[in-house]
Amino acid sequence: MSQPIYLDYAATTPVDPEVARQMADCLTLTGTFGNPASTSHGFGWDAQEKVEIARAQVAALLNVDVREIIWTSGATESDNLAIKGVMAGSSRRHIVTSAIEHKAVLDTCAFLESSGVEVTYLTPDSSGIITAQQLSAALRPDTALVSLMHANNEIGVLNDIDALGTICRDAGVLFHVDAAQSVGKLPLDLASLPVDLLSLSAHKFYGPKGIGALYIRRNPGFALEPQIHGGGHEFGFRSGTLATHQIVGLGAAAKLAQEHLANEVPRLTALRQRLLSHLSQIPGSHLNGDPQRRLPGIVNVSFEAVDGETLMNALAGIAVSNGSACTSATVEPSFVLTAIGVPRELALGALRISVGRFTSEADIDAAGQEIADVVGRLRS
Ligand SMILES: *Cc1c(COP(=O)(O)O)cnc(C)c1O
Repeated sequence: MSQPIYLDYAATTPVDPEVARQMADCLTLTGTFGNPASTSHGFGWDAQEKVEIARAQVAALLNVDVREIIWTSGATESDNLAIKGVMAGSSRRHIVTSAIEHKAVLDTCAFLESSGVEVTYLTPDSSGIITAQQLSAALRPDTALVSLMHANNEIGVLNDIDALGTICRDAGVLFHVDAAQSVGKLPLDLASLPVDLLSLSAHKFYGPKGIGALYIRRNPGFALEPQIHGGGHEFGFRSGTLATHQIVGLGAAAKLAQEHLANEVPRLTALRQRLLSHLSQIPGSHLNGDPQRRLPGIVNVSFEAVDGETLMNALAGIAVSNGSACTSATVEPSFVLTAIGVPRELALGALRISVGRFTSEADIDAAGQEIADVVGRLRS
Protein backbone atom coordinates (compact mmCIF):
# COMPACT_ATOMS: atom_id res chain seq x y z
CA MET A 1 0.00 0.00 0.00
CA SER A 2 1.25 3.49 -0.77
CA GLN A 3 1.94 6.08 1.94
CA PRO A 4 -1.08 8.08 3.10
CA ILE A 5 -1.21 11.69 1.90
CA TYR A 6 0.25 13.89 4.64
CA LEU A 7 -2.29 16.57 5.61
CA ASP A 8 -1.13 17.33 9.14
CA TYR A 9 1.30 20.20 8.51
CA ALA A 10 0.02 22.01 11.62
CA ALA A 11 1.38 19.19 13.80
CA THR A 12 4.77 19.23 12.15
CA THR A 13 6.32 19.61 8.70
CA PRO A 14 8.94 17.50 6.94
CA VAL A 15 12.38 19.12 6.83
CA ASP A 16 12.97 20.72 3.43
CA PRO A 17 15.71 18.75 1.58
CA GLU A 18 17.82 21.92 1.25
CA VAL A 19 17.57 22.45 5.02
CA ALA A 20 18.59 18.83 5.68
CA ARG A 21 21.60 19.22 3.41
CA GLN A 22 22.87 22.28 5.25
CA MET A 23 22.31 20.59 8.62
CA ALA A 24 24.27 17.52 7.56
CA ASP A 25 27.26 19.77 6.85
CA CYS A 26 27.46 20.62 10.55
CA LEU A 27 27.92 17.20 12.11
CA THR A 28 31.04 15.26 11.17
CA LEU A 29 34.79 15.83 11.39
CA THR A 30 34.89 17.25 7.87
CA GLY A 31 31.92 19.52 8.58
CA THR A 32 31.27 22.49 10.89
CA PHE A 33 31.04 20.44 14.08
CA GLY A 34 32.94 22.76 16.42
CA ASN A 35 31.54 24.36 19.54
CA PRO A 36 30.41 27.87 18.61
CA ALA A 37 31.64 29.00 22.04
CA SER A 38 35.22 27.79 21.38
CA THR A 39 37.21 30.95 20.75
CA SER A 40 40.66 29.37 20.59
CA HIS A 41 40.53 27.76 17.13
CA GLY A 42 38.91 27.81 13.71
CA PHE A 43 36.52 24.94 14.41
CA GLY A 44 34.77 27.17 16.91
CA TRP A 45 34.98 30.29 14.76
CA ASP A 46 33.42 28.52 11.78
CA ALA A 47 30.55 27.21 13.90
CA GLN A 48 30.00 30.62 15.44
CA GLU A 49 29.92 32.19 11.99
CA LYS A 50 27.20 29.76 10.85
CA VAL A 51 25.19 30.40 14.01
CA GLU A 52 25.32 34.14 13.37
CA ILE A 53 24.34 33.73 9.70
CA ALA A 54 21.30 31.76 10.89
CA ARG A 55 20.46 34.45 13.44
CA ALA A 56 20.55 37.03 10.66
CA GLN A 57 18.26 34.82 8.53
CA VAL A 58 15.67 34.55 11.31
CA ALA A 59 16.00 38.27 12.11
CA ALA A 60 15.47 39.09 8.41
CA LEU A 61 12.29 36.99 8.27
CA LEU A 62 10.85 39.01 11.18
CA ASN A 63 12.52 42.33 10.20
CA VAL A 64 14.26 42.75 13.57
CA ASP A 65 17.78 43.30 14.89
CA VAL A 66 19.98 40.18 15.20
CA ARG A 67 20.50 40.92 18.89
CA GLU A 68 16.76 40.46 19.45
CA ILE A 69 16.76 36.74 18.50
CA ILE A 70 17.78 34.04 20.98
CA TRP A 71 17.82 30.28 20.38
CA THR A 72 15.66 27.89 22.39
CA SER A 73 14.64 24.24 22.01
CA GLY A 74 11.31 25.19 20.42
CA ALA A 75 8.17 27.22 20.93
CA THR A 76 7.33 25.42 24.19
CA GLU A 77 10.57 26.63 25.73
CA SER A 78 10.17 30.09 24.18
CA ASP A 79 6.69 30.38 25.72
CA ASN A 80 8.03 29.26 29.11
CA LEU A 81 10.93 31.72 29.00
CA ALA A 82 8.75 34.62 27.89
CA ILE A 83 6.03 34.12 30.51
CA LYS A 84 8.07 32.91 33.49
CA GLY A 85 10.91 35.26 32.62
CA VAL A 86 8.68 38.36 32.54
CA MET A 87 6.85 37.41 35.75
CA ALA A 88 10.14 36.76 37.57
CA GLY A 89 11.36 40.19 36.53
CA SER A 90 8.20 42.13 37.41
CA SER A 91 6.54 43.10 40.69
CA ARG A 92 3.12 42.99 39.02
CA ARG A 93 1.17 39.76 39.56
CA HIS A 94 -1.46 39.54 36.81
CA ILE A 95 -1.41 37.90 33.35
CA VAL A 96 -4.03 38.04 30.60
CA THR A 97 -4.19 35.17 28.13
CA SER A 98 -6.93 33.21 26.35
CA ALA A 99 -8.70 29.91 26.90
CA ILE A 100 -7.60 28.60 23.48
CA GLU A 101 -3.83 29.09 23.76
CA HIS A 102 -1.43 26.21 23.19
CA LYS A 103 -0.75 24.10 26.29
CA ALA A 104 2.77 25.54 26.41
CA VAL A 105 1.15 28.85 27.43
CA LEU A 106 -1.79 27.47 29.42
CA ASP A 107 0.23 25.03 31.52
CA THR A 108 2.89 27.70 32.17
CA CYS A 109 0.18 30.10 33.38
CA ALA A 110 -1.37 27.36 35.55
CA PHE A 111 2.04 26.71 37.10
CA LEU A 112 2.44 30.41 37.91
CA GLU A 113 -1.06 30.48 39.45
CA SER A 114 0.18 27.96 42.00
CA SER A 115 2.74 30.54 43.12
CA GLY A 116 0.27 33.39 43.53
CA VAL A 117 0.05 34.91 40.04
CA GLU A 118 -3.48 35.75 38.91
CA VAL A 119 -4.45 34.82 35.36
CA THR A 120 -7.43 36.04 33.32
CA TYR A 121 -8.44 33.65 30.54
CA LEU A 122 -10.31 35.46 27.78
CA THR A 123 -12.86 33.34 25.92
CA PRO A 124 -13.44 34.13 22.26
CA ASP A 125 -16.84 33.87 20.60
CA SER A 126 -17.52 31.22 17.94
CA SER A 127 -15.12 32.99 15.56
CA GLY A 128 -12.20 32.05 17.82
CA ILE A 129 -10.87 35.62 17.73
CA ILE A 130 -10.00 37.72 20.80
CA THR A 131 -11.26 41.29 20.38
CA ALA A 132 -9.51 44.50 21.37
CA GLN A 133 -12.48 45.42 23.57
CA GLN A 134 -12.22 42.14 25.48
CA LEU A 135 -8.54 42.71 26.08
CA SER A 136 -9.01 46.34 27.17
CA ALA A 137 -11.62 45.31 29.71
CA ALA A 138 -9.35 42.66 31.21
CA LEU A 139 -6.29 44.84 31.84
CA ARG A 140 -5.59 45.91 35.43
CA PRO A 141 -3.04 48.21 37.06
CA ASP A 142 -1.12 45.10 38.19
CA THR A 143 -1.14 43.39 34.76
CA ALA A 144 2.45 42.55 33.82
CA LEU A 145 1.92 40.57 30.64
CA VAL A 146 -0.56 39.71 27.91
CA SER A 147 0.12 36.43 26.09
CA LEU A 148 -2.01 35.75 23.01
CA MET A 149 -1.33 33.58 19.99
CA HIS A 150 -1.19 34.87 16.43
CA ALA A 151 -2.68 31.82 14.67
CA ASN A 152 -4.50 29.10 16.57
CA ASN A 153 -2.99 25.65 16.02
CA GLU A 154 -6.32 23.79 15.93
CA ILE A 155 -8.69 26.05 14.05
CA GLY A 156 -6.21 28.31 12.25
CA VAL A 157 -7.93 31.63 13.02
CA LEU A 158 -5.84 34.79 13.34
CA ASN A 159 -5.80 37.37 16.10
CA ASP A 160 -5.19 40.99 15.13
CA ILE A 161 -1.87 41.32 16.93
CA ASP A 162 -1.45 44.91 15.76
CA ALA A 163 -4.68 46.01 17.48
CA LEU A 164 -4.11 43.84 20.57
CA GLY A 165 -0.49 44.99 20.90
CA THR A 166 -1.48 48.64 20.59
CA ILE A 167 -3.75 48.25 23.61
CA CYS A 168 -0.92 46.67 25.58
CA ARG A 169 1.54 49.36 24.54
CA ASP A 170 -0.88 52.16 25.53
CA ALA A 171 -1.42 50.50 28.93
CA GLY A 172 2.28 49.91 29.58
CA VAL A 173 1.83 46.13 29.59
CA LEU A 174 4.23 43.69 27.88
CA PHE A 175 2.82 41.68 24.95
CA HIS A 176 3.95 38.13 24.16
CA VAL A 177 2.79 36.39 20.97
CA ASP A 178 2.99 32.66 20.33
CA ALA A 179 3.48 32.71 16.57
CA ALA A 180 4.53 29.08 16.14
CA GLN A 181 1.83 28.54 13.49
CA SER A 182 2.25 31.77 11.55
CA VAL A 183 5.99 32.43 11.31
CA GLY A 184 7.09 31.54 7.80
CA LYS A 185 3.44 31.22 6.70
CA LEU A 186 2.39 34.86 6.79
CA PRO A 187 4.44 38.06 6.57
CA LEU A 188 5.32 39.35 10.06
CA ASP A 189 7.05 42.72 10.31
CA LEU A 190 8.01 43.10 13.96
CA ALA A 191 9.67 46.44 13.29
CA SER A 192 6.19 47.89 12.87
CA LEU A 193 4.14 45.63 15.17
CA PRO A 194 3.76 46.45 18.88
CA VAL A 195 5.03 43.05 20.08
CA ASP A 196 7.60 42.65 22.88
CA LEU A 197 8.20 38.90 22.79
CA LEU A 198 7.44 36.34 20.06
CA SER A 199 7.84 32.55 20.07
CA LEU A 200 8.60 30.47 17.00
CA SER A 201 9.46 26.86 16.21
CA ALA A 202 11.50 25.52 13.27
CA HIS A 203 9.56 22.28 12.76
CA LYS A 204 6.38 24.16 11.90
CA PHE A 205 8.00 25.65 8.80
CA TYR A 206 10.18 22.92 7.26
CA GLY A 207 13.03 23.12 9.76
CA PRO A 208 14.04 20.45 12.29
CA LYS A 209 12.32 19.60 15.57
CA GLY A 210 14.00 20.62 18.80
CA ILE A 211 14.96 24.17 17.83
CA GLY A 212 13.13 27.46 18.05
CA ALA A 213 13.68 31.05 18.94
CA LEU A 214 12.36 33.82 21.12
CA TYR A 215 12.26 37.38 19.84
CA ILE A 216 12.95 39.82 22.69
CA ARG A 217 12.45 43.51 21.88
CA ARG A 218 15.40 45.69 22.87
CA ASN A 219 13.85 49.13 22.44
CA PRO A 220 12.04 49.78 24.70
CA GLY A 221 13.75 47.06 26.71
CA PHE A 222 12.40 45.28 29.80
CA ALA A 223 13.48 42.78 32.47
CA LEU A 224 13.46 39.11 31.49
CA GLU A 225 14.86 36.55 33.94
CA PRO A 226 16.59 33.56 32.34
CA GLN A 227 15.08 30.17 33.16
CA ILE A 228 18.11 28.05 32.26
CA HIS A 229 21.42 29.02 33.89
CA GLY A 230 24.95 27.89 33.12
CA GLY A 231 27.53 29.72 31.07
CA GLY A 232 25.65 32.84 30.01
CA HIS A 233 25.11 31.95 26.35
CA GLU A 234 22.58 33.89 24.26
CA PHE A 235 23.17 37.30 25.90
CA GLY A 236 22.60 35.59 29.28
CA PHE A 237 19.00 34.67 28.45
CA ARG A 238 19.51 30.97 27.74
CA SER A 239 22.58 28.96 28.61
CA GLY A 240 23.72 25.73 27.00
CA THR A 241 26.03 24.77 24.12
CA LEU A 242 24.44 25.90 20.87
CA ALA A 243 23.24 23.09 18.58
CA THR A 244 24.92 24.33 15.40
CA HIS A 245 23.19 21.87 13.03
CA GLN A 246 19.74 22.68 14.48
CA ILE A 247 20.34 26.41 14.38
CA VAL A 248 21.64 26.24 10.80
CA GLY A 249 18.49 24.27 9.95
CA LEU A 250 16.27 26.95 11.48
CA GLY A 251 18.16 29.69 9.64
CA ALA A 252 17.91 27.88 6.30
CA ALA A 253 14.21 27.23 6.88
CA ALA A 254 13.66 30.93 7.62
CA LYS A 255 15.46 31.94 4.44
CA LEU A 256 13.44 29.49 2.33
CA ALA A 257 10.20 30.60 3.98
CA GLN A 258 10.96 34.22 3.18
CA GLU A 259 11.65 33.32 -0.46
CA HIS A 260 8.48 31.20 -0.76
CA LEU A 261 6.12 33.52 1.13
CA ALA A 262 4.79 35.59 -1.77
CA ASN A 263 3.90 32.46 -3.78
CA GLU A 264 2.87 30.15 -0.96
CA VAL A 265 0.25 32.39 0.67
CA PRO A 266 -1.99 32.48 -2.43
CA ARG A 267 -1.21 28.87 -3.39
CA LEU A 268 -2.10 27.44 0.04
CA THR A 269 -5.15 29.70 0.32
CA ALA A 270 -6.38 28.31 -3.01
CA LEU A 271 -5.75 24.72 -1.84
CA ARG A 272 -7.66 25.42 1.37
CA GLN A 273 -10.61 26.84 -0.59
CA ARG A 274 -10.52 23.85 -2.92
CA LEU A 275 -10.67 21.54 0.09
CA LEU A 276 -13.50 23.55 1.61
CA SER A 277 -15.53 23.36 -1.56
CA HIS A 278 -15.19 19.55 -1.46
CA LEU A 279 -16.16 19.40 2.21
CA SER A 280 -19.07 21.83 1.97
CA GLN A 281 -20.79 19.38 -0.39
CA ILE A 282 -20.96 16.85 2.43
CA PRO A 283 -24.33 17.35 4.19
CA GLY A 284 -24.05 18.34 7.86
CA SER A 285 -20.48 19.65 7.66
CA HIS A 286 -19.45 22.75 9.61
CA LEU A 287 -16.30 24.86 9.36
CA ASN A 288 -15.06 25.72 12.85
CA GLY A 289 -13.77 29.24 13.52
CA ASP A 290 -13.96 32.44 11.53
CA PRO A 291 -14.25 31.72 7.77
CA GLN A 292 -12.21 34.78 6.71
CA ARG A 293 -9.55 35.67 9.28
CA ARG A 294 -7.48 32.53 9.08
CA LEU A 295 -4.14 31.02 8.21
CA PRO A 296 -3.84 29.81 4.61
CA GLY A 297 -3.15 26.17 5.53
CA ILE A 298 -5.53 24.98 8.28
CA VAL A 299 -9.12 23.75 8.00
CA ASN A 300 -11.06 22.47 11.01
CA VAL A 301 -14.37 20.90 10.12
CA SER A 302 -17.04 18.97 12.06
CA PHE A 303 -19.45 16.40 10.67
CA GLU A 304 -22.86 15.78 12.19
CA ALA A 305 -23.75 12.23 13.21
CA VAL A 306 -20.21 10.88 12.79
CA ASP A 307 -17.90 9.79 15.60
CA GLY A 308 -14.55 11.52 15.13
CA GLU A 309 -12.49 8.62 16.42
CA THR A 310 -14.18 6.18 14.04
CA LEU A 311 -13.86 8.66 11.17
CA MET A 312 -10.12 9.13 11.80
CA ASN A 313 -9.49 5.41 11.87
CA ALA A 314 -11.48 4.85 8.68
CA LEU A 315 -9.51 7.47 6.73
CA ALA A 316 -6.72 5.17 5.56
CA GLY A 317 -5.46 7.26 2.65
CA ILE A 318 -4.85 10.54 4.44
CA ALA A 319 -3.00 11.56 7.60
CA VAL A 320 -5.02 14.21 9.45
CA SER A 321 -5.66 15.10 13.08
CA ASN A 322 -8.83 14.99 15.16
CA GLY A 323 -7.75 17.78 17.47
CA SER A 324 -4.33 19.02 18.41
CA ALA A 325 -1.60 16.39 18.35
CA CYS A 326 -0.78 17.19 21.95
CA THR A 327 -4.13 16.01 23.22
CA SER A 328 -5.00 13.29 20.72
CA ALA A 329 -4.19 10.57 23.29
CA THR A 330 -7.41 11.39 25.12
CA VAL A 331 -11.01 10.98 23.91
CA GLU A 332 -12.24 14.26 25.39
CA PRO A 333 -13.39 16.81 22.80
CA SER A 334 -10.84 19.48 21.96
CA PHE A 335 -10.77 22.21 24.63
CA VAL A 336 -10.37 24.79 21.85
CA LEU A 337 -13.58 23.72 20.10
CA THR A 338 -15.43 23.50 23.43
CA ALA A 339 -14.20 27.00 24.38
CA ILE A 340 -15.55 28.55 21.16
CA GLY A 341 -18.93 26.96 21.80
CA VAL A 342 -18.88 24.00 19.40
CA PRO A 343 -21.38 21.47 20.86
CA ARG A 344 -19.75 18.34 22.33
CA GLU A 345 -21.21 16.07 19.63
CA LEU A 346 -19.78 18.19 16.83
CA ALA A 347 -16.47 18.74 18.61
CA LEU A 348 -16.05 14.97 18.85
CA GLY A 349 -16.64 14.71 15.10
CA ALA A 350 -14.02 17.32 14.14
CA LEU A 351 -11.07 16.91 11.79
CA ARG A 352 -8.11 19.26 11.46
CA ILE A 353 -6.74 19.13 7.93
CA SER A 354 -3.61 21.16 7.27
CA VAL A 355 -1.81 21.63 3.97
CA GLY A 356 1.71 22.79 3.19
CA ARG A 357 4.66 23.14 0.84
CA PHE A 358 4.41 19.63 -0.61
CA THR A 359 0.61 19.43 -0.99
CA SER A 360 -0.80 19.32 -4.54
CA GLU A 361 -4.26 19.89 -6.00
CA ALA A 362 -4.43 16.16 -6.71
CA ASP A 363 -3.83 15.48 -2.99
CA ILE A 364 -6.72 17.78 -2.08
CA ASP A 365 -9.07 16.15 -4.57
CA ALA A 366 -8.17 12.67 -3.32
CA ALA A 367 -8.65 13.77 0.31
CA GLY A 368 -11.99 15.45 -0.43
CA GLN A 369 -13.23 12.33 -2.20
CA GLU A 370 -12.13 10.00 0.57
CA ILE A 371 -13.65 12.09 3.35
CA ALA A 372 -16.97 12.30 1.47
CA ASP A 373 -16.96 8.54 0.86
CA VAL A 374 -16.09 7.62 4.45
CA VAL A 375 -18.53 10.05 6.06
CA GLY A 376 -21.28 8.72 3.78
CA ARG A 377 -20.39 5.10 4.55
CA LEU A 378 -20.29 5.68 8.33
CA ARG A 379 -23.68 7.34 8.29
CA SER A 380 -25.40 4.63 6.29
C1 LIG B 1 3.67 23.58 17.87
C2 LIG B 1 3.27 24.71 18.74
C3 LIG B 1 3.93 24.97 19.95
C4 LIG B 1 5.02 24.09 20.49
O1 LIG B 1 6.18 24.17 19.72
P1 LIG B 1 7.35 23.11 19.93
O2 LIG B 1 8.49 23.69 19.17
O3 LIG B 1 6.85 21.83 19.36
O4 LIG B 1 7.64 23.03 21.39
C5 LIG B 1 3.52 26.05 20.69
N1 LIG B 1 2.53 26.85 20.27
C6 LIG B 1 1.86 26.63 19.13
C7 LIG B 1 0.77 27.57 18.70
C8 LIG B 1 2.21 25.55 18.32
O5 LIG B 1 1.55 25.34 17.19
